[in-house]
Amino acid sequence: MDSARQLNKPEQLYSHFSDMPQLAQRLNYIQEPQTIAMAKLSRELAAQGHDVISLSLGEPDFATPKHILDAAKAALDKGYVFYTPVAGYPELRSAICDKFLRDNGLAFKPDQIVVSTGAKQALMNAVMALVDKGDEVIIPTPYWVSYSEMVRLMEGIPVFVRSTLEQNYKITPAQLEAAITPKTKAFMFSSPCNPTGSVYSLQELKAFAEVFARYPRIHIIADEIYEYITFTGKHESIAQFDAIRDRVITINGMSKGFAMTGWRIGYLGASKEIAAACEKIQGQFTSGTNAIAQAASIVALNGTREPTNAMRNAYERRRNLVINRLKEIKGLGCNNPEGAFYVFPDISHFLGKSYQGQRIETATDLCMYLLNTMHVAMVTGEAFGAPECVRISYATSDDKLEIAMQRIKTGLEQLS
Ligand code: PLP
Repeated sequence: MDSARQLNKPEQLYSHFSDMPQLAQRLNYIQEPQTIAMAKLSRELAAQGHDVISLSLGEPDFATPKHILDAAKAALDKGYVFYTPVAGYPELRSAICDKFLRDNGLAFKPDQIVVSTGAKQALMNAVMALVDKGDEVIIPTPYWVSYSEMVRLMEGIPVFVRSTLEQNYKITPAQLEAAITPKTKAFMFSSPCNPTGSVYSLQELKAFAEVFARYPRIHIIADEIYEYITFTGKHESIAQFDAIRDRVITINGMSKGFAMTGWRIGYLGASKEIAAACEKIQGQFTSGTNAIAQAASIVALNGTREPTNAMRNAYERRRNLVINRLKEIKGLGCNNPEGAFYVFPDISHFLGKSYQGQRIETATDLCMYLLNTMHVAMVTGEAFGAPECVRISYATSDDKLEIAMQRIKTGLEQLS
């Protein structure tokens, strides 16, 4: 018995392998998110006693509203401690249907909804459900860091369509159509956009829908996680157009609009077939997501939007503060974000300049310089497919933003 056990020890079975773990090839296809890497670096500097202001993370600085916290506490007392249905509690799925109808004019039935561990998992479920090896997925740049990596993980091919500051970081229908090939399986985008804050209008989405109507094989993954943080009036969903409705997977979640990042609740609305595919995948990965967070999300979705609106107003004020300060910096190109909580200035004017012998060649160099010298953390545009830009998150207090903007100005102006 003992010797049989000995023989089954992994080190004996695999003794011909080197000491290195034999990791799967797919790890070579993807990178660690640079947003997280930057946050790690700034925490390290702060731990050394530096007064670092972090403008690097995509996280509301507000606490989750009290009525949602209370709902979570009550859920514990009511016994929400067991495994949940894979696609989410029926009551939550119905609250999500009501929300889609009320806010977006989209009529879903509960079996078209899958609740996941964050919008991130909802996105990954959709990519896994759609993308086979060699399939192309069109992604407008600048794009959210994980889109390309999700596609690559499935051995698909991200096809980037570039938008510029002059276009307010929005691609045109003609650019979209030019990128379509017989291998195109999906189009994946966020509006409001992380990292640029750009928002596609009803007319712009309609024009995309007209293109997709001509290509019935293409699916659209519409990431609307910043829906409630728009400064243009009403948010518009691309799923509202009849000709493409069944091919749109609308992604949303609780993280941004309800300040619930750590609760990890996201969801998607899609055709019954796609929702069933996502449920099947999730059933083998994580099962149904957290019971307490789901119970609290029901209350959040059915309850008052006052805290959400107050947060939105604060973001708009901060957006204005940051934009006004950035405009004072000569050489910096700045967009006018209409949503989310990011500004994405073009810093190419500063590339090739130096400070005390330190030469800035790339956006990453610039971020490192501003972090080390000015103690302000931002994220390099390289992470978002835009190497001429940096991303500033203004999800922090007005006071900190004022100080950070002054530091950025000083840091950039002392480059020559
Ligand atoms: N989509 C975009 C565009 C995001 O910026 C983020 C988070 O930063 C997510 C999805 C993921 O959100 P969640 O916290 O719900 O996983």
